[in-house]
Amino acid sequence: MELVNLKDASDKASFAEAVKKGLGKNQGLFFPTNLAKFDDIDAILALPFVERSVEILTKLIGDELPKATIAGIVERAFAFPAPLTKVTDNIYSLELYHGPTLAFKDFGGRFMAQCLAEIAKGEKITILTATSGDTGAAVAHAFHGMDNIDVVILFPKGKISLLQEKLFTTLGDNIHTVAIDADFDACQQLVKSAFDDQEVRVGLHLNSANSINISRLVAQVCYYFEAVAQLSSKEREDLVISVPSGNFGNLTAGMIAKVMGLPIKHFIAATNLNDTVPRYLKTGEWAPKATIATLSNAMDVSQPNNWPRIEAIIEQGYLDKSVLSGDTIDEEYTQVAMRQLAQLGYVSEPHAAIAYKALVRQLEPGQTGIFLGTAHPAKFRETVENVLGQPISLPQALAECASKEAYSVDLPNDYAALKAHLFSLLG
Ligand SMILES: *Cc1c(COP(=O)(O)O)cnc(C)c1O
Repeated sequence: MELVNLKDASDKASFAEAVKKGLGKNQGLFFPTNLAKFDDIDAILALPFVERSVEILTKLIGDELPKATIAGIVERAFAFPAPLTKVTDNIYSLELYHGPTLAFKDFGGRFMAQCLAEIAKGEKITILTATSGDTGAAVAHAFHGMDNIDVVILFPKGKISLLQEKLFTTLGDNIHTVAIDADFDACQQLVKSAFDDQEVRVGLHLNSANSINISRLVAQVCYYFEAVAQLSSKEREDLVISVPSGNFGNLTAGMIAKVMGLPIKHFIAATNLNDTVPRYLKTGEWAPKATIATLSNAMDVSQPNNWPRIEAIIEQGYLDKSVLSGDTIDEEYTQVAMRQLAQLGYVSEPHAAIAYKALVRQLEPGQTGIFLGTAHPAKFRETVENVLGQPISLPQALAECASKEAYSVDLPNDYAALKAHLFSLLG
């Protein structure tokens, strides 16, 4: 797999290099120079999930890693299912929350951890990442206990749910967590500053594990295939997928799946009030506003990191921009959608509910719709119980960590303070 920096065409990388570097020069994102298409998509869809995912990832990564190595990585990473659950006659939820931290980020996080362990073979690495909620938990669990790899996770203090926080602040060992007194965009900026700082980047062998890492993105392509594989051939004919979006990694992966030949007619980029992309799709003007805290906090992102990759897919002629439309769901409609889903017998959390609402608004007669269920409702228990007025039970993984002690350190939104902390921990 050859990749090129979208900000500097002379900065090229192999898959292994891009996985290790995360970002290219000038904070540019790596993007494949060529996206291959399957000749016989039905044959691919007929395979079981893990076997099919090995085919997809081999197609994307190429012969840089032996197929048997990719197979081992996939088997260890994708050890849980992605079922499609019927919600109405023509609407399904793709449940991506059956992994250890109960959100879709387990797919990318675990695949990335396994790739890095394979590629780095004993070299020392520091993973530095910012989380708006679920990335932190997925990355922390995926790397917990690995030799020679330290993980530092920044999160916006008090802006994510307590259970979300407990899932990654209670592990200890090689997992270090820092509560920053600011919002997620500020945390993301601190991470970028660290990558721009030669002394830190080289000295601590930094690697990023948020949705900009190419390994996470390619892993996510696989569950779009798994969704379509569970539909009848009739339902595959006119399919719309609604993606609850924050940093837009999930949607990027879906669009790559379509480029590879997966029969998806249309995508909906569903956001909360942090609606930079839906406004951009309507007006052509890129005008991020200050980030607003919402019920769907994992999508409280006003400057989505992955957007240049979606632009690249369109600009390079892989897809027409008409395959994508946006929709913004406000706080009230998020709750309305959760109640409507509950009436249909489907308990959901705010992120999935936003995707559902946008889908219902845009789905046309005769079409089949899928919305992505990005997190388990219990992960947002307080909100779900408040909105639905009914108690929900905690899965065992959450119940166990809810009672454990958290290990995070508090820091102000100040790069010098972060840098000093990093060297005191790891230097
Ligand atoms: C991260 C996250 C999202 C947003 O996904 P992106 O790939 O950043 O667009 C949506 N829902 C949940 C529950 C998440 O954790």
